[in-house]
Formats: sequence, C-alpha cells, structure tokens
Amino acid sequence: GVGLQVPDKKVESVCPYCGVGCQLTYNIKDNKILYVEGRDGPANHGRLCVKGRYGFDYASHPQRLTKPLIRKAGVPKVPGETIDPARVHEYFREASWEEALDLAGNSLKKIRDTHGPKALVGFGSAKGSNEEAYLFQKLVRTGFGSNNVDHCTRLCHASSVAALLEGIGSGAVSNPVMDVTQADVIIVIGANPTVNHPVAATWMKNAAKNGKKLIVMDPRKSDLSRLAWRFLQFKPDTDVAMLNAMMHVIVHEGLVNEDFIKSRTIGYDELKKNVEGYSPEAMAPICGIPAETLREVARTYATSKGSMILWGMGVSQHVHGTDNARCLIALALMTGQIGRPGTGLHPLRGQNNVQGASDAGLIPMMFPDYQKVIEPQVRAKFEQMWKLKPGTLDDKPGLTVVEVMHAAAEGKVKGLYIMGENPAMSDPDANHAREALAKLDHLVVQDIFLTETACLADVVLPASAFPEKTGTFTNTDRLVQLGRQALQPPGDAKQDLWIIQEMARRIGLDWNYEHVSEVFDEMRHTMPSIGGITWDRLERQHAVTYPCVKEGDPGTSVVFDHDFPREGGVARFVPADIIPAAERPDAEYPMVLITGRQLEHWHTGSMTRRAGVLDAIEPDPVALVHPLDLDALGVQPGGLLTIESRRGKITLYGRADDSSPRGAVFVPFCYYEAAINRVTNDKFDPVAKIPELKYCAVRVTAGGEA
Ligand code: SF4
Repeated sequence: GVGLQVPDKKVESVCPYCGVGCQLTYNIKDNKILYVEGRDGPANHGRLCVKGRYGFDYASHPQRLTKPLIRKAGVPKVPGETIDPARVHEYFREASWEEALDLAGNSLKKIRDTHGPKALVGFGSAKGSNEEAYLFQKLVRTGFGSNNVDHCTRLCHASSVAALLEGIGSGAVSNPVMDVTQADVIIVIGANPTVNHPVAATWMKNAAKNGKKLIVMDPRKSDLSRLAWRFLQFKPDTDVAMLNAMMHVIVHEGLVNEDFIKSRTIGYDELKKNVEGYSPEAMAPICGIPAETLREVARTYATSKGSMILWGMGVSQHVHGTDNARCLIALALMTGQIGRPGTGLHPLRGQNNVQGASDAGLIPMMFPDYQKVIEPQVRAKFEQMWKLKPGTLDDKPGLTVVEVMHAAAEGKVKGLYIMGENPAMSDPDANHAREALAKLDHLVVQDIFLTETACLADVVLPASAFPEKTGTFTNTDRLVQLGRQALQPPGDAKQDLWIIQEMARRIGLDWNYEHVSEVFDEMRHTMPSIGGITWDRLERQHAVTYPCVKEGDPGTSVVFDHDFPREGGVARFVPADIIPAAERPDAEYPMVLITGRQLEHWHTGSMTRRAGVLDAIEPDPVALVHPLDLDALGVQPGGLLTIESRRGKITLYGRADDSSPRGAVFVPFCYYEAAINRVTNDKFDPVAKIPELKYCAVRVTAGGEA
C-alpha cells in the first residue's frame, strides 16, 4: 500500500482548505503526495483536521484538466447541465495554449472595445495566492478598465468587513484564534467551528475544558455547544434582537466601560438611546432566549477580565448581516473588551486565502489594502505605481458577485473571466446564475476540474492545484504564510500566475514577472500593512503576521491597543434595529432553509468530492432535518425528500439530526447532484451586498427523483 512507501521529498507548506491556516508537510514520491503531516505552525501547533490530513489526492485525480479546451461550434450552453467526464469531447475540443489564450484574450478585448470596459468582469479566487489575487485585480483594473472584480468573499464575510471598516477602520480580526487560551469568556456566535474551522475549534474546546466560560449562540446545535457554559439556541434571524437586549442590560446595570467609551469611541449616546427599546423581557419572546439568560450572559461578557467574540456566516449571511456585525462591535466597544490579549473581535474567515484575496484588492470598491477607488489621491498613487497615464483608473466601485449575475442576465455584462471559482454552484438562486452565465457572449474559466461553471465556458484553461505552486496565503489571524510547490502540474496544465500574465498580454498589457517573489515585492510596496514583510523573511520564517509596516518589525497579532485606524483614532458605534429576513415562511413554504458546510467537504465540492477518503465518508447529498419533522413528513432516515422554494427544487436524502431546530432544515452546498443554491434566495444586505444564504422559505415533501 501507499502507506509503506518512503517519500523521496518533503515539502513544507500550508493546508489548502480553510482560513485556520494549518502548516503541514507534504511527503512526496514520484510527483505524488504519499501522506501529509502537521507542522508546528502558529495556528495549529502540529494539529490537522480530516481535510488537511486526508484531503490531498484530488490533485492527482484522473479528471484533472490537462489541456486547454475550446467549446465546439454550435454546441449550445444549457444552464444546469453537468457534463459527464467521458463525454467532454462532445462539448469541447482540445487546443494549444496559444490558440486558447488568443481566443480568450481576443474575445474579451473585442467586448471591451465594442461595449466598453463595464461589459467585462473578473471573478478571482479566495483559494489562490495573494500574488494571484493581486495580479488578477490589476489585470481587471488596468486591462479590462473597470473595478468589476470580485470574489467569493462577497458571499461570506462582506457584511462583517463592511461593519468592521465602518466601526473600527479595519476589516481583519483584532486578535488571533489562539487568544481563546487567554480569554476568560469566549462567545462563539453564528459559527460551527468543529465543522468549518476544526483545528481552531480544538483550541476553543481546550479552553472550555480548562474552565473558560464558553458561550455558544446559534440557531443550530453545534458539537461545540455541548462544551459550552451557556448555549443560547436563539430563533433563526433574531440576532439583532438578542444582541441589543444584551446591550440594554449592560447599559442599565452600569456595566459599560465609561473610560473606554469616552477616550476611544464616538456615537455612544445614539447607541444607548437605540438599545433602550430592547429590554430582555421584550426581546425574549422574539429571540426565544429567557430574559434572565440574556442578563446573565451580558453581565458575564461585560465584567470578565478578557472577553472575546468569534463569529461566522450565521452572523454575516443575512439581509441584516452588517447590522448583526455592528451589534457585536458595539458590545466589544461599550465594555472595552478589545485591544488586549484575550479580547476582541474575530470573524472566522472561511477559505485559506479569503483574508489575503480581499487584502490584495480582489474587491470592487477598493484597491489593495482597502484603499478606496473613489478617492482621487488613492487612484493617483496607483496610477503612478502601475505606470499608467493619470486619470486612467476607474473612479467608480464595480459590480459585486450577485449584481454581476443580474447584469449578465440583462445583457449588460457580456464577458467574464473566472479564475478558480464556481458560481454555478456557490451563487444564490443558482438557476438564475446559471442562466446568466449561459447568456454571456464569452466566458473564460481557469480551473483544475471541469466545474459546473466550466461546463458553460467558451474557453477552459487548465490550472494548477494548490501543491503545484508557490505563493503566500493569509489566514484568519492575519498571518501571511508561504505555500511551497511540491508537485508538477499534470499534462499541459499551467500555474495560475503564468496564465494570468498570458491573459494580460493578450488584452494589451506588457507584463514580465519572472518569479512569484517579484509580484510579492510589488504588492508590499503598494500595501502599507505588509510593507515590512520580505520574501526572504517568509522563506526563513514561513509566516509573518501583519500589520508589519517596516522591515524588521516583528508583526502585530493583537491590534487596537492604543487607537483605531479611523479618523481621529477612535472607533464608532453604529446602532441597529430589527430588519426581518427577505423571505419569511408562509402557508405555501412553511419551513426555513439554512445552508452551510460539512466537515468532510469543502464549499462547492470540486476538490473534496474528488478526495477519496473524504468522499467515502460523506458520499451523498443530505438534508439535516429534526427527527420529529422527518417523522411528520413520513420520511424514514435515509429516505428521499424534496426541498422546493419559489426559485427551484432539489431532491436528496433526509438525515435525522436534532442540531437543526424544528421547522428548519440544514443543507450543505457541496453536492452538484442536488445543488441547494438552486433553492436559496439572492436578496442581499444593502450595505455589503451579501446574499441571505442563511434564511429562506421552503416546502419539504417526502420522495422525489434522486
Ligand atoms: Fe486545513 Fe482548516 Fe483543517 Fe487546518 S483546520 S487542516 S487549515 S481544513
């Protein structure tokens, strides 16, 4: 067996999956990964979860794309069609790189020259490196000629980042996950870390076992809640009611930190006035948590020596996602629970490089390091650094992910270049998204597999898997880490950095980056927060935390100890009121749908469904339904059920699982056979444009066609 073979090479790298950023070692023989071991990185201390340890063989899967593909003339794009790998040749023909790149580049250029820069869009990837993200956004901004560049951060923490930028001036975390070991009180809200950030969850579990007060707040009962000192299973969609009630208690019982509020914040009076109407007694029936529990938890959070809040997509993926995050920020500010070890605010970032991709400017309203596109002096600076004529850069924010799909459906966006994302699976109301993708004049998809999105492409460019390239990746703790190449890409597949550069040349840019380190060096000169991190240092140290402004600066893991990076150095309270979900249950669609992930699978499943061990553990699409609801539907555990909304329907297997409250069904979004996003709602938060993936109305019935 493979386990008995002796590796001929060991490569020190990072896990390709989640934002925890575990360091690992690839053990290689004959250009194949034999096994993976955990390394002593700052985030994992040798620990790995099932994905990091066993989820590596996707890279050598026989379905890897190894040749550029061009859609055959006359083959229609059928939304929702997945192509049987054995029949790819009926849809696409193999082409040389020269031909594929020329066709892709020329087609996009023609759209730009005929319909203007805004008819083109680029979607980058939170799985790519910082250097790939940086070059990709530079290509869109300087080559396509607009700010129409976004990526899946829009679907995960866009609202958290919007609220954090507004309130404290920085979208990243204030303290690393590991600070749970120094906190006395740990609130985990709207997150399921044992599933989504498993190694981070181990530190939380250790802390709870060591007597720290772990407070879990979630409509779903997670594994972590079993270890919680208090578990608040609040009703879905009632975050603002619950959090405002906690603030009401803190104000009324005189538990606010007056000094902190006075010296380090603005806007408190307005917040105080706003929470006045949210007494625990009034909010208890709304959120389903007894008033006395709300009081107890509020007191405990406010009065401990160090209280920390960590949150996930349960907070962010709502039409009121920004408001939810505003409340968490206000809680920390009014009690002064920020700016010291064991305190602060930590939005648990999802993908391995969603923090870095956002930092590198893969977002439509900001250049690298969150420098706003609307500010003339910022544009002038980038024009100078990128050697452009003054006035070249677009001064308007571009379109976000969901807006792009609407614009494509309306025929306003005509050309799309997608690097490593799978919106046909990940976007809300995926039937609509797929129709929009099919309608494009030209779709270029750069990926390692023929994803559901690539099935609708005109040109498919075979790219490199994580272990096949070198680059930097920024984890949820703001830790910039080096991922090192361990394998050669298969066949004619190429590294993404090379592909981006060749695409840039085809649309008229004259780029000549010889090595990834040159891209990093350019980045750090445009991004003050990583200005002090050099490639040499990363090679030596593997990881450096930003802010690291000057060379030699050790990096800062706990920030805001003296001031906030806002005007005047002070943070700002922003009050929030209750806004209901965009689509509430009714007689026709009486249940609530919550979507998310499973431990063994990653996002749209393109990698983990092709990882032998992981797919063997969770091979089939499932819906997690409360046993009593399943019984009421007349479905046996393991039986088929159909979930239908106003937008679409899918059929999958029902699993009896009391983690979901009664009346709510939970479905992971990784199964192409039953893509739950065909059912979800694309209504979004008005500030951050993040869709409401955590709440829509559905009807669940027994049976259906598998
Ligand atoms: Fe990889 Fe995240 Fe698991 Fe660590 S916790 S091994 S980074 S998936």
